[in-house]
Amino acid sequence: MNDWRISEKIDKVKPLLDDISPTFCLAKWLYVQIHLPHGLTQSCYHPPAHNIPLDELEQNPSALHNTKFKIAERKQMVLGKQPPGCEYCWKIENLKNSEQISDRLYRSSEDWAAENYDYITDNEYNFNVKPAYLEVNFSHACNQKCIYCSPHLSSTWYDEIEEFGPFKLKTLGKKFNHSTTITEVDHLHNDIKYLEEQGKLPFEVRKENKVKKKDNPYVKAFWKWLPHIYDNLHHLRMTGGEPLMHKDTYKVLNYILENPSPNLQIGITTNLCPSNNSTFEKFIKILKKLENPIDNNVLKIWEKNNYLKEITYFAKNDNKNIRQKDGSYKWQNWPRFIVNDNEKVDKEIEPTLSRIDRKKIVGVFNEKNRNETTGDFFYKQLWLKPINNNWRCLGSTDFEKEGNEGIVDNFSAYEHLMLYVSLDSVGKQAEYMRYPLDFKILENNVHLILKNLTRTNITFINTFNLLSVSSIQYFLEFVHNLKNEYGFDKVTFDIPFLEYPNWLAIDILTKDFLQYMYDTEKYITEYDTFSEKEIKKVERNIRYMEDKILGENDYSLQRKNFALYIDQLDKRRNTNFLKIFPEYTEFYNLCN
Ligand code: SF4
Repeated sequence: MNDWRISEKIDKVKPLLDDISPTFCLAKWLYVQIHLPHGLTQSCYHPPAHNIPLDELEQNPSALHNTKFKIAERKQMVLGKQPPGCEYCWKIENLKNSEQISDRLYRSSEDWAAENYDYITDNEYNFNVKPAYLEVNFSHACNQKCIYCSPHLSSTWYDEIEEFGPFKLKTLGKKFNHSTTITEVDHLHNDIKYLEEQGKLPFEVRKENKVKKKDNPYVKAFWKWLPHIYDNLHHLRMTGGEPLMHKDTYKVLNYILENPSPNLQIGITTNLCPSNNSTFEKFIKILKKLENPIDNNVLKIWEKNNYLKEITYFAKNDNKNIRQKDGSYKWQNWPRFIVNDNEKVDKEIEPTLSRIDRKKIVGVFNEKNRNETTGDFFYKQLWLKPINNNWRCLGSTDFEKEGNEGIVDNFSAYEHLMLYVSLDSVGKQAEYMRYPLDFKILENNVHLILKNLTRTNITFINTFNLLSVSSIQYFLEFVHNLKNEYGFDKVTFDIPFLEYPNWLAIDILTKDFLQYMYDTEKYITEYDTFSEKEIKKVERNIRYMEDKILGENDYSLQRKNFALYIDQLDKRRNTNFLKIFPEYTEFYNLCN
């Protein structure tokens, strides 16, 4: 969205928020990230995730979002206090003389939040709110083990650590409990025992409460809760693990097929490279179905779901005044309706139609529906679904004549799907970072998605770590070529920089690596394929790197850990870092 549009929205929403309190944030009510394998929940992605108590969940599945803990934070906000979990925003808002806008304002002014202002403020602070933005992961099952990931987030990582044990690295600490000096001591990285003690392991692999994946109480609660919140959802994003490997991902997609939602924006974060091709085929098949959902089976399900109203009607060209000067047609002049092929005018249709947004329905009639010879209008069929007490038109079917098979018009079970594809480089270097990725397969799958799906876009997420730097231009060339082939908006990218583990962060590189970024800065501005937002993100990373690399910082410990980590990684995975990244030789030697 353009900057001016965002600030216009913020200007509109800020006084409304201030009306409640100076710390009121709609995201605390409407945005939730739920980690079902771990039994954790958080509002937006800044506050730390907290436990979902099982006793609260037993009483009400809405505790997946409305925990007592979160409700207490909402109360603080209504009273104008700053809940500590939202530190990320308070830091920005407490800056003196700063013009920076906090995420509290950004998030609250987004459509999914602002549209729900009355819904939130007409209720008490402690009501069980239905979220509008839901991000969920069902399992930590993943076929890749990215170098910066961890065993509690990827099953393949978990298996590797079980086989080889944690990585032996260094940290600063006391050698003995009674010591007073801080020095370099041993540190275990990706240690399953430590993660277990911290309660970070997925519920199903925790020794204390090991349960079968299918019996995970959080997943069960999710399925109970979904039908209650579904109509309020604007965004539904699934993450992982690797969502293509999770049966619940397909269950959600089938749920959407059976319960179409014309406002819904779906997001899936994926590596788009499942271990076997049949998984990808299954995935693309359901996406195609979602784009063109109508068949007899689906219609039967809709009828059973009882929200489908099928209205068939036509108009004879017996009223010459129906076409207006501007070419549009006047609703009240439509001479006749036929409901469900019943020749009689059904009296019951009027109240139904009066609840429909008439403009939208009128819009369905156009020249396409007119028989050029007779001037008669064709039959139409509309599929309608009540959403929050309003009837929404999901789509329509044109009939050339009664009884003919209809041509489906402007219909999809959702509004839009964004695939967030994780990719930190291209070719062999990408494969090293997202082991055991097969770049060729990924590339092929990307083309299949872009060729076959019209409502699906791809955003590549490059988790910008120190190994992404030397190939950033190749990565952008890859994106640029896809943009040229499929459309500038159809393919986009983001490059959030990696903060942890700090020995893989761009901060610790040496000055010479800045040149890769300067060349890229030149490259990206040469083409009009990249948006201003994308260019700004690259520039932001360059300025960040300059700040860290040219500043007076001591990265000796992180560099030592980098070399220790890479050596152990190569040994376990039978890879050869310097062969794949020869341009890092000098840096690697410096770290040793
Ligand atoms: S105040 Fe900030 S951190 Fe807290 S929920 Fe809102 S956007 Fe998220």
